[in-house]
Amino acid sequence: MLRNRKSRSHKHLVTISPQNRAEEYAHSALDFCRKREQGLPRLPLPIPAELWAEKHLRVKIAVEDLSIYGEGTLGALRPDCRLILIDPITEHHVGLYRFTIAHELGHLAQHKYLRLDRFVDDAGCLSLSESFLSYLEVEANRFAAYFLMPSKDVFEELIRFFGLRGVNPDDYLAMLTFPTDRSLWWWKHRVLPFLTESFQVSLTAMMIRCRTLQVGTHTLLPAQLESEVLAPSGRLSTILQRMYYRRAVNS
Ligand SMILES: [Zn+2]
Repeated sequence: MLRNRKSRSHKHLVTISPQNRAEEYAHSALDFCRKREQGLPRLPLPIPAELWAEKHLRVKIAVEDLSIYGEGTLGALRPDCRLILIDPITEHHVGLYRFTIAHELGHLAQHKYLRLDRFVDDAGCLSLSESFLSYLEVEANRFAAYFLMPSKDVFEELIRFFGLRGVNPDDYLAMLTFPTDRSLWWWKHRVLPFLTESFQVSLTAMMIRCRTLQVGTHTLLPAQLESEVLAPSGRLSTILQRMYYRRAVNS
Protein backbone atom coordinates (compact mmCIF):
# COMPACT_ATOMS: atom_id res chain seq x y z
CA MET A 1 0.00 0.00 0.00
CA LEU A 2 2.57 2.50 1.10
CA ARG A 3 5.11 1.45 -1.50
CA ASN A 4 2.59 2.18 -4.22
CA ARG A 5 1.96 5.65 -2.88
CA LYS A 6 5.62 6.63 -2.90
CA SER A 7 5.70 6.43 -6.66
CA ARG A 8 3.12 9.20 -6.96
CA SER A 9 4.29 12.74 -7.45
CA HIS A 10 3.60 15.41 -4.86
CA LYS A 11 1.97 17.50 -7.54
CA HIS A 12 -0.53 14.74 -8.20
CA LEU A 13 -1.36 14.39 -4.51
CA VAL A 14 -2.22 18.04 -3.95
CA THR A 15 -4.69 18.03 -6.82
CA ILE A 16 -6.80 15.46 -4.99
CA SER A 17 -9.23 16.74 -2.39
CA PRO A 18 -8.50 15.49 1.16
CA GLN A 19 -11.55 13.29 1.29
CA ASN A 20 -10.73 11.61 -2.00
CA ARG A 21 -7.12 11.25 -0.96
CA ALA A 22 -8.15 9.29 2.15
CA GLU A 23 -10.50 7.19 0.05
CA GLU A 24 -7.76 6.50 -2.46
CA TYR A 25 -5.39 5.33 0.27
CA ALA A 26 -8.06 3.10 1.81
CA HIS A 27 -9.00 1.66 -1.57
CA SER A 28 -5.34 0.94 -2.36
CA ALA A 29 -4.87 -0.82 0.99
CA LEU A 30 -7.97 -2.96 0.51
CA ASP A 31 -7.06 -3.79 -3.07
CA PHE A 32 -3.57 -4.78 -1.98
CA CYS A 33 -4.95 -7.12 0.71
CA ARG A 34 -7.60 -8.59 -1.57
CA LYS A 35 -4.98 -9.49 -4.19
CA ARG A 36 -2.84 -11.10 -1.49
CA GLU A 37 -5.83 -13.29 -0.64
CA GLN A 38 -5.48 -15.17 -3.92
CA GLY A 39 -7.27 -12.36 -5.70
CA LEU A 40 -10.63 -12.58 -3.97
CA PRO A 41 -13.27 -11.45 -6.47
CA ARG A 42 -14.82 -9.17 -3.85
CA LEU A 43 -14.12 -7.90 -0.38
CA PRO A 44 -15.23 -10.09 2.54
CA LEU A 45 -17.58 -8.52 5.08
CA PRO A 46 -16.91 -7.42 7.65
CA ILE A 47 -13.56 -6.21 6.38
CA PRO A 48 -11.02 -8.29 8.35
CA ALA A 49 -9.17 -5.20 9.55
CA GLU A 50 -7.06 -6.77 12.27
CA LEU A 51 -6.20 -9.90 10.29
CA TRP A 52 -5.28 -8.06 7.11
CA ALA A 53 -3.29 -5.41 8.93
CA GLU A 54 -1.05 -8.08 10.42
CA LYS A 55 -1.09 -10.53 7.54
CA HIS A 56 -0.69 -8.21 4.58
CA LEU A 57 0.17 -4.68 5.74
CA ARG A 58 3.14 -5.70 7.89
CA VAL A 59 1.63 -4.16 11.01
CA LYS A 60 1.80 -5.60 14.51
CA ILE A 61 -1.18 -5.06 16.79
CA ALA A 62 -0.91 -5.32 20.57
CA VAL A 63 -3.53 -4.80 23.23
CA GLU A 64 -2.17 -3.08 26.31
CA ASP A 65 -3.04 -0.50 28.92
CA LEU A 66 -2.49 2.92 27.32
CA SER A 67 -3.37 5.04 30.35
CA ILE A 68 0.32 6.05 30.54
CA TYR A 69 -0.46 8.31 27.57
CA GLY A 70 -3.37 9.90 29.39
CA GLU A 71 -6.75 8.85 30.68
CA GLY A 72 -9.08 7.81 27.91
CA THR A 73 -6.41 6.87 25.39
CA LEU A 74 -7.87 4.26 23.04
CA GLY A 75 -5.14 3.69 20.51
CA ALA A 76 -1.61 4.60 19.55
CA LEU A 77 0.71 4.08 16.63
CA ARG A 78 4.49 3.74 16.50
CA PRO A 79 5.14 4.34 12.80
CA ASP A 80 8.85 3.47 12.97
CA CYS A 81 8.15 -0.13 13.98
CA ARG A 82 4.68 -0.34 12.40
CA LEU A 83 3.14 -1.11 15.78
CA ILE A 84 -0.47 -0.36 16.66
CA LEU A 85 -1.38 -0.35 20.35
CA ILE A 86 -4.99 -0.74 21.42
CA ASP A 87 -6.31 -0.18 24.92
CA PRO A 88 -8.27 -3.15 26.32
CA ILE A 89 -11.26 -0.91 26.98
CA THR A 90 -12.03 -0.99 23.26
CA GLU A 91 -12.28 -4.78 23.22
CA HIS A 92 -15.74 -4.60 24.75
CA HIS A 93 -16.99 -2.61 21.76
CA VAL A 94 -16.25 -4.40 18.51
CA GLY A 95 -17.07 -1.36 16.39
CA LEU A 96 -14.77 0.89 18.41
CA TYR A 97 -12.00 -1.73 18.42
CA ARG A 98 -12.10 -2.09 14.65
CA PHE A 99 -12.40 1.64 14.02
CA THR A 100 -9.42 2.36 16.28
CA ILE A 101 -7.25 -0.10 14.36
CA ALA A 102 -8.38 1.39 11.05
CA HIS A 103 -7.76 4.92 12.37
CA GLU A 104 -4.16 4.03 13.24
CA LEU A 105 -3.75 2.40 9.84
CA GLY A 106 -4.92 5.72 8.41
CA HIS A 107 -2.15 7.56 10.25
CA LEU A 108 0.40 5.02 9.05
CA ALA A 109 -0.73 5.21 5.43
CA GLN A 110 -1.08 8.98 5.21
CA HIS A 111 1.17 10.55 7.84
CA LYS A 112 4.30 8.46 8.02
CA TYR A 113 6.15 11.20 6.12
CA LEU A 114 5.85 13.45 9.18
CA ARG A 115 8.33 11.18 10.95
CA LEU A 116 6.55 11.56 14.29
CA ASP A 117 7.55 9.18 17.09
CA ARG A 118 3.98 8.19 17.77
CA PHE A 119 0.35 9.07 17.35
CA VAL A 120 -1.81 8.89 20.47
CA ASP A 121 -5.59 8.87 20.15
CA ASP A 122 -8.32 9.28 22.73
CA ALA A 123 -12.06 9.20 22.20
CA GLY A 124 -11.97 12.82 21.06
CA CYS A 125 -9.70 11.96 18.12
CA LEU A 126 -12.16 9.25 17.07
CA SER A 127 -15.26 11.30 17.74
CA LEU A 128 -15.99 11.96 14.06
CA SER A 129 -16.98 15.54 14.85
CA GLU A 130 -14.69 16.98 12.25
CA SER A 131 -14.99 20.60 13.27
CA PHE A 132 -13.18 19.88 16.55
CA LEU A 133 -10.41 17.76 15.13
CA SER A 134 -7.00 18.47 13.68
CA TYR A 135 -6.53 17.84 10.01
CA LEU A 136 -4.52 14.69 10.72
CA GLU A 137 -7.31 13.19 12.81
CA VAL A 138 -9.88 14.04 10.15
CA GLU A 139 -7.79 12.24 7.55
CA ALA A 140 -7.26 9.21 9.79
CA ASN A 141 -11.00 8.98 10.53
CA ARG A 142 -11.88 9.29 6.87
CA PHE A 143 -9.43 6.56 5.99
CA ALA A 144 -10.98 4.35 8.68
CA ALA A 145 -14.48 4.98 7.35
CA TYR A 146 -13.50 4.20 3.77
CA PHE A 147 -11.45 1.17 4.83
CA LEU A 148 -14.19 -0.42 6.94
CA MET A 149 -17.16 0.71 4.84
CA PRO A 150 -16.18 0.95 1.14
CA SER A 151 -18.81 2.77 -0.93
CA LYS A 152 -19.39 -0.04 -3.39
CA ASP A 153 -19.88 -2.58 -0.63
CA VAL A 154 -22.29 -0.41 1.36
CA PHE A 155 -24.49 -0.06 -1.71
CA GLU A 156 -24.22 -3.77 -2.52
CA GLU A 157 -25.29 -4.62 1.02
CA LEU A 158 -28.21 -2.25 0.74
CA ILE A 159 -29.31 -3.89 -2.51
CA ARG A 160 -28.95 -7.31 -0.87
CA PHE A 161 -30.95 -6.06 2.11
CA PHE A 162 -33.88 -4.99 -0.04
CA GLY A 163 -33.53 -8.07 -2.23
CA LEU A 164 -33.96 -10.28 0.84
CA ARG A 165 -37.26 -8.52 1.46
CA GLY A 166 -38.45 -9.00 -2.10
CA VAL A 167 -38.81 -5.29 -2.81
CA ASN A 168 -37.38 -3.19 -5.61
CA PRO A 169 -33.97 -1.89 -4.42
CA ASP A 170 -34.12 1.16 -6.70
CA ASP A 171 -37.46 2.31 -5.30
CA TYR A 172 -36.40 1.78 -1.72
CA LEU A 173 -32.99 3.40 -2.17
CA ALA A 174 -34.73 6.49 -3.52
CA MET A 175 -37.20 6.39 -0.62
CA LEU A 176 -34.34 6.38 1.90
CA THR A 177 -32.96 9.65 0.56
CA PHE A 178 -36.05 11.65 1.52
CA PRO A 179 -36.59 12.85 5.13
CA THR A 180 -39.97 11.28 5.82
CA ASP A 181 -41.43 9.31 8.73
CA ARG A 182 -41.32 6.23 6.54
CA SER A 183 -37.64 6.56 5.66
CA LEU A 184 -36.81 7.37 9.29
CA TRP A 185 -38.46 4.13 10.37
CA TRP A 186 -36.52 2.13 7.77
CA TRP A 187 -33.23 3.79 8.66
CA LYS A 188 -33.65 3.43 12.39
CA HIS A 189 -35.18 0.00 12.71
CA ARG A 190 -34.02 -1.92 9.69
CA VAL A 191 -31.28 -0.42 7.50
CA LEU A 192 -28.74 0.84 10.04
CA PRO A 193 -29.02 -2.24 12.28
CA PHE A 194 -28.47 -4.44 9.20
CA LEU A 195 -25.49 -2.43 7.93
CA THR A 196 -23.80 -2.11 11.31
CA GLU A 197 -24.06 -5.88 11.69
CA SER A 198 -22.68 -6.53 8.20
CA PHE A 199 -19.74 -4.15 8.55
CA GLN A 200 -19.20 -4.54 12.32
CA VAL A 201 -19.02 -0.82 12.97
CA SER A 202 -20.78 1.46 15.42
CA LEU A 203 -24.13 3.01 14.64
CA THR A 204 -22.60 6.47 14.59
CA ALA A 205 -19.81 5.44 12.21
CA MET A 206 -22.28 3.88 9.77
CA MET A 207 -24.63 6.83 10.01
CA ILE A 208 -21.85 9.26 9.14
CA ARG A 209 -20.70 7.01 6.31
CA CYS A 210 -24.20 6.96 4.82
CA ARG A 211 -24.28 10.74 5.04
CA THR A 212 -21.28 10.90 2.71
CA LEU A 213 -22.73 8.58 0.05
CA GLN A 214 -24.76 9.91 -2.85
CA VAL A 215 -27.78 8.57 -4.68
CA GLY A 216 -28.11 10.81 -7.69
CA THR A 217 -28.09 14.34 -6.31
CA HIS A 218 -29.20 13.31 -2.80
CA THR A 219 -27.16 12.11 0.12
CA LEU A 220 -28.08 8.54 0.96
CA LEU A 221 -28.98 9.53 4.53
CA PRO A 222 -30.81 12.88 4.64
CA ALA A 223 -29.17 15.34 7.04
CA GLN A 224 -32.58 16.06 8.60
CA LEU A 225 -32.82 12.50 9.91
CA GLU A 226 -29.43 12.26 11.60
CA SER A 227 -30.43 13.31 15.10
CA GLU A 228 -33.67 11.31 14.88
CA VAL A 229 -31.85 8.17 13.84
CA LEU A 230 -29.72 8.28 16.98
CA ALA A 231 -32.50 9.36 19.32
CA PRO A 232 -33.93 6.74 21.66
CA SER A 233 -37.20 5.36 20.47
CA GLY A 234 -40.05 3.40 21.90
CA ARG A 235 -43.78 3.35 22.14
CA LEU A 236 -43.87 5.72 25.08
CA SER A 237 -41.66 8.35 23.46
CA THR A 238 -43.71 8.09 20.26
CA ILE A 239 -46.95 8.64 22.20
CA LEU A 240 -45.44 11.61 24.03
CA GLN A 241 -44.22 13.12 20.77
CA ARG A 242 -47.72 12.84 19.31
CA MET A 243 -49.23 14.45 22.41
CA TYR A 244 -46.86 17.39 22.22
CA TYR A 245 -47.48 17.68 18.50
CA ARG A 246 -51.28 17.76 18.99
CA ARG A 247 -50.96 20.35 21.73
CA ALA A 248 -48.77 22.51 19.54
CA VAL A 249 -51.22 22.25 16.66
CA ASN A 250 -54.29 22.96 18.83
CA SER A 251 -52.80 25.82 20.84
ZN1 LIG B 1 -5.38 9.82 15.42
